[in-house]
Amino acid sequence: MNPDPDYSSAYLEVETDADDGIKGVGFVFTIGRGNDVVIKAIESLSERFIGMSIEPLLDDMKTAWDMLVHDSQLRWLGPEKGVEHMAIGAMLSALWDIKAKRAGVPLWQLLAEMEPEELVATLDFRYLTDVLTPEEAVEILRRGQEGKAERMQHLLDNGYPGYSTAAGWLGYSDEKMVSLAASESTEKGFDLIKLKVGQNLEDDLRRLRLAREAIGSNVRLAVDANQVWDVDVAIDWIQQFKDFELEWVEEPTSPDDVLGHARIAQAVHPIPIATGEQMQSRILYKQYLQANAFEVMQVDATRVAGPQELIIEYLLAHKFGKRVCPHAGGVGLCEAVQHFAMFDYIAISGRTEGRYIEYVDNQHEHFVTPVEIKNGNYMPPLAPGNSCEMTLETAEKYLYAP
Ligand SMILES: [Mg+2]
Repeated sequence: MNPDPDYSSAYLEVETDADDGIKGVGFVFTIGRGNDVVIKAIESLSERFIGMSIEPLLDDMKTAWDMLVHDSQLRWLGPEKGVEHMAIGAMLSALWDIKAKRAGVPLWQLLAEMEPEELVATLDFRYLTDVLTPEEAVEILRRGQEGKAERMQHLLDNGYPGYSTAAGWLGYSDEKMVSLAASESTEKGFDLIKLKVGQNLEDDLRRLRLAREAIGSNVRLAVDANQVWDVDVAIDWIQQFKDFELEWVEEPTSPDDVLGHARIAQAVHPIPIATGEQMQSRILYKQYLQANAFEVMQVDATRVAGPQELIIEYLLAHKFGKRVCPHAGGVGLCEAVQHFAMFDYIAISGRTEGRYIEYVDNQHEHFVTPVEIKNGNYMPPLAPGNSCEMTLETAEKYLYAP
């Protein structure tokens, strides 16, 4: 589905006239020309902030959300989905970045240390209260307080599990795939390797056999179809994978097809179905969960409207007993999404079993505080903020303003 990606991002900085020198940073990942469209959307919503005092918004992020998400003229373009929503995500991320930097802590820690009521007050439960109320959210976060200090220490000592997609690309020869699968697991320490599938069944089965031989039985395997199949094709195809004990099959069909995913999930059970990297809103997630249409939720840091929507996605997953394995990869996605997985571990689910953050060793050098991977685990970032700030050298070399 994505034959010619050009990993890139629309990058946003929010400056204030406070004398602390702090800039908030946010971005929207795209795979190329979509940047031009996202930048127009960011410019359009930025106009409302120029010259405005943002101090009241930083103290009341729900008002910031309402101002952006419920802007009646721009809302027409969604509502609450697509380019406009992603642009809003960049802006809200930048504001949360300022909050974390002012507090002198990484974003995951800021979120984990907020009082449950204080955090829930920033969230928008509109359209969700039939499955999750603010009171339930407070209750979930209250339960998450127990053992929080121990989990934070465990995270600081051991990190959060990652998984590797490095070997998986369809364009790789068998030899290259096998050698990467082996080195990612044995040398880099990843417990889970993911391969792309879906172009040719015989190729998929051969590559899965070769990968399994290369990584041994202790390393898990997952596959990703990137939305290629129709529902019935997906069911037939995935059933051929039953001997590989897959951790999941990702994006079998259109991310908008709730009932299609539900049918697939039921038909191929117990093979888990995963999706979410292109899921457009918390409301669609709600429907997926109500329909029991996936087992693994794959949130993406720049697909929805920033930290507040991501927190709701994690709360919904917890309510429905699903594990979250965030999507990551190109420019900054690993840096951004790690904060939410770590926040979830400390303050919501309290668990890392069966949970992994995707990892690809791409483009980390462009970030001031790139992710740190140790023995297959993401080590928690310690620098204040959301880790999304790009280096000046990169900005000077690659900055493009249409
Ligand atoms: Mg994927």
